Amino acid sequence: MTPERYAKILRVLSKRQPTLTVLMDEVNKPHNLSAIVRTCDAVGVLQAHAVPPRGGRLVDFDGHTFEATSGSAHKWVPVQKHAEAVGAVRDLQAQGFQVLATHLSQRSVDYREVDYTRPTCVLLGAEKWGVGDEAADAADHNIIIPMFGMVQSLNVSVAAATILFEAQRQRLAAGMYDAPQLGDEDLRRWAFEWAYP
Ligand code: SAM
Repeated sequence: MTPERYAKILRVLSKRQPTLTVLMDEVNKPHNLSAIVRTCDAVGVLQAHAVPPRGGRLVDFDGHTFEATSGSAHKWVPVQKHAEAVGAVRDLQAQGFQVLATHLSQRSVDYREVDYTRPTCVLLGAEKWGVGDEAADAADHNIIIPMFGMVQSLNVSVAAATILFEAQRQRLAAGMYDAPQLGDEDLRRWAFEWAYP
């Protein structure tokens, strides 16, 4: 570990946003999962969350395909696994996160109307069936990216990037990247883990 490399690790960790995360609910295509994790790294998400796809394809989180397409971002954004979506939503809410389900419903609002400077988790759905109704009901808000085309939805990784960069925009304006959001002890612990994996 060179001093330059360690300095870069500290620089990146000093921008990490422990109060911003995503919960991927059965996102089953490895390239989508990888693209989302790469965006998480870019905006400063410290840790992501996922409910693995049905059928026990856990290998997608740690296996070759995921790693090969995430541009090494998976090394810098650990993905914590959960057994199912509603339980995960409640766990994250108990930790103080508002959960925003990307879901079309009676109570959906434009994703830009939400305050992302609050501790926030964006719940993303599977390509085929989206976010389940029960998880969407358990969420604090339902959000949508308005669509005016012939096709009804975006690719999940595109939707994730659109929303996470709005969160980054709001947090930059609020000065949340100006000073470390991680406490001293946590920052040192993460730096050690990144430097000596
Ligand atoms: N048939 C699915 C449905 O009815 O929800 C479509 C799922 S879409 C391909 C996959 C995921 O991308 C969604 O669950 C959501 O997380 C995200 N997504 C796609 N388009 C979106 C939009 N316009 N607004 C918010 N999220 C969107």
